[in-house]
Amino acid sequence: MNKQKKVAFLTLGCKVNQFEADSVAKQLEENGFIVENEITSDCDFVILSTCAVTNEAERKSRQMLSKINKLAPNARIIVCGCASQHQAKNFEGKKNVSVIIGTSSKHLLPLILEESGAFVVEPPLDWEEMSAPLKHRTRAYVKVQDGCNNFCSYCLIPYVRGRSRSRPLESIIVECFNIAKHSKEIVLTGINISAWGQDINRDMIDLLSSLTTINARIRISSMEMNIITPQLIETIKKMPNFCHHFHLSMQSGCDKVLKDMNRHYTSAEFLEKVKMLKDAFPDCNITTDLIVGFPGETDEDFKQTIDTIKRAKFGYIHIFPYSRRAGTVASRKPNVDANVVKERVMKVTKLRDELEKEFLEKQLGTVQEMLCEQEKDEYIVGHTRNFTKVYLPKKQAEPNDLAYVRIDELYLDGVKGSLVEIVKDD
Ligand code: SF4
Repeated sequence: MNKQKKVAFLTLGCKVNQFEADSVAKQLEENGFIVENEITSDCDFVILSTCAVTNEAERKSRQMLSKINKLAPNARIIVCGCASQHQAKNFEGKKNVSVIIGTSSKHLLPLILEESGAFVVEPPLDWEEMSAPLKHRTRAYVKVQDGCNNFCSYCLIPYVRGRSRSRPLESIIVECFNIAKHSKEIVLTGINISAWGQDINRDMIDLLSSLTTINARIRISSMEMNIITPQLIETIKKMPNFCHHFHLSMQSGCDKVLKDMNRHYTSAEFLEKVKMLKDAFPDCNITTDLIVGFPGETDEDFKQTIDTIKRAKFGYIHIFPYSRRAGTVASRKPNVDANVVKERVMKVTKLRDELEKEFLEKQLGTVQEMLCEQEKDEYIVGHTRNFTKVYLPKKQAEPNDLAYVRIDELYLDGVKGSLVEIVKDD
């Protein structure tokens, strides 16, 4: 009898990469491979999922090859993901690298694992069917969309992931119902989820209204402001399972910079969407992404961004100092002085921390539903529906419980809570 081959994964980058790696792992197991939780010296294959979101991410992706070679000197390395799509030549001929497949055809990996060479092709125009493994118990990610048509001037994604394509509605519904049998929360994820449906004559309202009766909390990982409409808000209001956490990518709060970024909205339009959400869902948490020091951003532009942030009162801001990506439109413009960027990052980080504290203080005294995720020291750590991080004394609940908790005090990067009651399974 042939010995079963052992495979391990090293996955960098976003939740989409993680979902895809989990999905490939499931397929490999179904095809007789043993999937290891970590890279060990007896692995036959290591699948490296790379990331190209910044120059640094690409460099790190390349560095991982030596790490894999140290841990599993005899393993053949399969490189996939955005960095290998962008610059396959960076991986070609490197020690033990046998297959390079870019961002497409990951679902064919069980077939091509024993091959060698580069299979980097243009990203596909249609959806490549992939499903999540059923092993996640607390929070499960469901990929519903891939690619992007937006061409923000700083971003390589449309070039390496291809144009937006949507997973068929029926396939999403089936997967969500299956996952809900054992997971308490489903996060819909994609490269630009807001574009879901555009290529199949559907929209986010169709998607969300089909998930209303799923017996799990539903969360959307990130949204563009253009999909926030009165109709979408009405749809969400009818969803007892929807988590009121809206991660709306803003990137800049200055109209001139937004235009240079090719983002197609103004700060006033963005703030209007924030207001619509806060009026409709007073308990909601609105978080965002921000790029600091975009080429051409002046002190005055940055002040405008600070002003927009103060008005939006975000619960949290993911702050990214601008990182030049060769091949993008923005990369042709001169960079803002590195020290100026540093100062701006410090300033906006201080504001971010103040606003986060303000948001957390508003949660004090409320009773909220918490998904208990993992044990840490003497606590069970998890998140409420609006993504407040809660530390609950360990003995009060178990990982994977849903619990009503009273929010008592601020603690570390979240709050401390006390148990009101465990939510019973239906
Ligand atoms: S929306 Fe913009 S930043 Fe996001 S993936 Fe598309 S091009 Fe990149």
